[in-house]
Parts: sequence; C-alpha cells; structure tokens
Amino acid sequence: MKAKTNDASDVEIRTDIKFDNRFVRELPADPETENKRRQVLGAAYSRVTPKQVSSPTLIAYSKEVVDILGFSQSFCESDTFLNAFSGNRLLPGMDPYAACYGGHQFGNWAGQLGDGRAINLGEIVNRQSGRWILQLKGAGPTPYSRTADGLAVLRSSIREFLCSEAMFHLRVPTTRALSLILTGEKVERDMFYDGRPKLEPGAIVCRVAPTFTRFGNFEIFTARGATALLKQLADYTIRTDFPHLGDPSPEIYAKWFDEVCKLTADMILHWMRVGFVHGVMNTDNMSITGLTIDYGPYGWLEDYNPGWTPNTTDAATHRYCFGNQPAIAHWNLVKLANAIYPLIGKVEPLQDAIDSFGRYYETGFNTMMAQKLGLTAFTPETDESLVKGLLEILPLVETDMTIFFRNLALLNTECEYAEPTDMKPLTQPLMDAFYIPSQITDTYLERLHTWLHTYIRRLKQDNRPFEEKQNQMNPVNPKYVLRNYLAQLAIDKAEKGDYSMIHELQEVLRHPYEDQPGKEAFAEKRPDWARKKPGCSMLSCSS
Ligand code: AMP
Ligand code: MG
Repeated sequence: MKAKTNDASDVEIRTDIKFDNRFVRELPADPETENKRRQVLGAAYSRVTPKQVSSPTLIAYSKEVVDILGFSQSFCESDTFLNAFSGNRLLPGMDPYAACYGGHQFGNWAGQLGDGRAINLGEIVNRQSGRWILQLKGAGPTPYSRTADGLAVLRSSIREFLCSEAMFHLRVPTTRALSLILTGEKVERDMFYDGRPKLEPGAIVCRVAPTFTRFGNFEIFTARGATALLKQLADYTIRTDFPHLGDPSPEIYAKWFDEVCKLTADMILHWMRVGFVHGVMNTDNMSITGLTIDYGPYGWLEDYNPGWTPNTTDAATHRYCFGNQPAIAHWNLVKLANAIYPLIGKVEPLQDAIDSFGRYYETGFNTMMAQKLGLTAFTPETDESLVKGLLEILPLVETDMTIFFRNLALLNTECEYAEPTDMKPLTQPLMDAFYIPSQITDTYLERLHTWLHTYIRRLKQDNRPFEEKQNQMNPVNPKYVLRNYLAQLAIDKAEKGDYSMIHELQEVLRHPYEDQPGKEAFAEKRPDWARKKPGCSMLSCSS
C-alpha cells in the first residue's frame, strides 16, 4: 500500500502495516483532549501525541519482534521507522493514547496512576492474526504523568530492552521490545535520591505485547464506583484476550479470574526457575495475561538468597524479594478479585480461584524443581525432602544460582558412591558456583555431599542415561542470564557512545540454554567489584 504520513512534510512511504485499533474503538475515550495532568473520570484512556525529539538514533532492534510484526529489515533501517518509534511522526493508522489505571503500591492503594510515560501508538494484526500493541515508553508526558516528565533515560531503557527480549528467549511470558532509540535530548534524574540530579541521555523503547492491561486498570474503576466501565473493560478483555472463554457472564468472569490466577502462577514459576526478581510487584505492574511487565529495578539472583531485593526503595521491607514473589502474586490477585467482585456479586467463585492458586503454584513448583534436577517426575515420597534439603543448603554459603543448577547437570551421576565422602573430587563443577572460598568448610561440604549422595541415588531410580537427563536439565537451567553487572557494563559503554555490548548481549541472550563457545565470560559469576556497585546489586526506581 502507498500511504501518506501524518506529518506536515507529507512524505510518501511504502508500508504494508495495517492498524486495527480495537482498544480505542471499543472503549470510552476521555472527552478532554488537552494534554495536562489530571484525574481522568469516565474513560479507559486519553488520546495523546508523543513529544517530538531533536535527533533520534537507532541503537538496536529485535529481529524476532520485527518478524512478528511483519516488518522488513529495510523498513527498520529507514528514517520512517526511526521517526515513528521515537514518536516524531505517526504512521498512517496510528491513534495514540495513554491508558487510565490505578494500583496498590507497596501494599497501599495509590489512586490513579496510568500510562504516565507510555504512549500506545496502535495495534497491528499480523499475518497469523495475532494482535500486537506498539507502545512507546518515555515519549513524553500524558494526563497520567502526575509530577514526573514522561521521559526515560538510556540506562533504564537498555535494561528494559535487553531484559524483556532475554526473558522471551528464556521462555518466560513477557512483553517484548521492538526498538531502542536514543532521543538526542537530556533528561534530568536524581538517581541516588540524594539531591544531586544529573542530566542523562534520554531514550525510548518501543514495547510490544498483545495487551498492556494491568490489574490496576480494573481496580481504578471499582475504586471510583464506575461499575459500567469495569464491565466494559472486563468484557473487552475477555473478548479480545480470552476469546476461548466465550461470551461474558457472571460464570465466565469467574472462569476468567481463575485463568488469570493460573497465568500469574505460571509467570511466577518461571521467575523462580530462572532467578528473576521483578522488584516492583505493585498491582499496576501486574499484567492481566500473566506477562512480565514494566522492567524497572529488577534484578537477577546471583547468590541464592530468597530475601534479596534489587530495589533500593524496597530495602527496608523486602516486600518484593525473590522468595516473596509467589505470596505477593497471591496478595495482588486478592486485590484483583476485590476489583472484579461487582461483576460477579458472589465471593465463593473468586475465593475458590484464589485458594486454587496456592495448590496450582505448589504443584507447578514441584514439577519445575523436578525438571531442574533432571528427575523424570516429581515423586512426593522421595522428592519433597530432596527439594527441601537443597533449598536449605543453597543459602548457607554464597552460591550462584544459575551456575549451580547449570553445573549440576555435569556431575557424573552414573558412578557408584558408597559414602557421601567419595564424591569430593567429582563435585568440582559445583565449586564454580561459590563466591567465597573460605565459606566452603568441611562441615559445609559434608552437608552438600550428603545431599548429593541422596540426589544421585534418587536419579538412579529413574534409571536413564546421563545424556538423556542432561538434555532435560539444560533447557530449564539457563547458562546465560542478563546478570546485573553485565547490563551495567553495557550501560557504561553506551553512555560513552559505544553500543557494541548491547548488541553482543542481545546475541548471547538469544540462546540462553546453549553452550556458546567463546562466550563463556558472559556466564561467569559476578566479579567482586560489582558486589556493592549501584546498578549491579542495588537498583533505584529512578529511570
Ligand atoms: P512504575 O513504578 O515505573 O511502575 O511507575 C508507577 C507510575 O508512575 C506509573 O503510572 C508510571 O507511568 C508513572 N511514572 C514512572 N516514571 C514516570 C515518568 N518519568 N514520567 C511520568 N510518569 C512516570
Ligand atoms: Mg509501572
């Protein structure tokens, strides 16, 4: 199709991109169109135009997302692409808006939040009939920006771009990232909240997902007593994102909620499998389809410490630490249940779904641990204590979670071990996982070897070849994750104008489960200099 762009220069471009903007078409818009900060009542979204930027530069794009959207490589390298995904020029058919949502932040109702720095450009229906919303993060203020500027800095944009794609390749449900663009503008941020703001390079990520709807989109309507709007959004969500459930009715709302509970549990199970800590599990950051959304002060578990939180704002309470993630998901689902209660008018179906979350998660966790350990199936009689024993041992000394599980598959489990002490020379691959040699005392080794002895005896019950077991373990225990310090090194270089490490990480993280000769450095444990360095072990919300 030949199309005209929406900008004043009226340049003709070739594009086959078709937008079908169902969200704005079917849900009520804010009648006020002035882009000023305010409470938006009676609407699901406000129309808003991205801010112009001075000199955009494309730093990176994801070829997998390009394929999903049906874009051509040459389009991605064109000025049209650069201008569209920096917010400078709309493509024909785009109808940009910011969504209205609320949320519980750190356990308290926070009122209206909304897309304060996210602008949805439009929805593409691709050749496989998949619906994909394109959303710019950091493209300027919206009515929901409250006291902030609507912008994003390079460091947080690199983190979102790299991590969301890395998560996809790890098979973790997630929003995606199409592009990372430097705006050419400076953005002021007080990164350490110490009253010393700095000017930082601004950037925009174009995020892509079938839906960006959060628990908070429902909560805001219920908090305001806007039941008709709540119903409209729930019906829209069921028809668009859960069409297999059938036509909305009180029974279907309950089924829908049950499915949201399961999708959320699945997402958390994946986080626990790969050692991901979201860091800000507020209800406005919980996707209604169980996607990992809003990559802010997230972190990857280095030493296996269930109490670890990457978010400096969470340092006092550890509410969002690794080990709390399942409980917080449960808490957030209760908030969602309260929000959709007016649609059902009965507590029992919601309570049943909430109760089944715990059982579903537990079964899923056992299955996941069995896979991580290379067992054919979780057998409660033996494996409950096996898993419990391991989870008690891991935090005793600083143990790199990723390396430990990956290297567990290297142990020679086919030998006979009469006594746990026999195993000393054979546990060498696990030694790479330990951070502090002085912690590896004889007492510790004795405990580890006793556990390994039980583990190996348990593997023998499955009676299958070493390779078969290893082939099961490697695709669930990644070798490469976006270690906190790796992201920070890529940021440090990018802030000096060198984007090579972003590209290199992008490439390595495409195949997180494969051994990649020459790339072993990316699989090594955190170097000591990064132990306490901001950005590597502690992340501020400033972004
Ligand atoms: P977050 O903690 O990043 O999930 O953000 C919570 C709320 O603050 C959301 O409504 C965001 O849109 C908003 N927000 C975060 N950063 C900014 C910013 N720089 N400008 C405007 N709104 C923001
Ligand atoms: Mg958010």
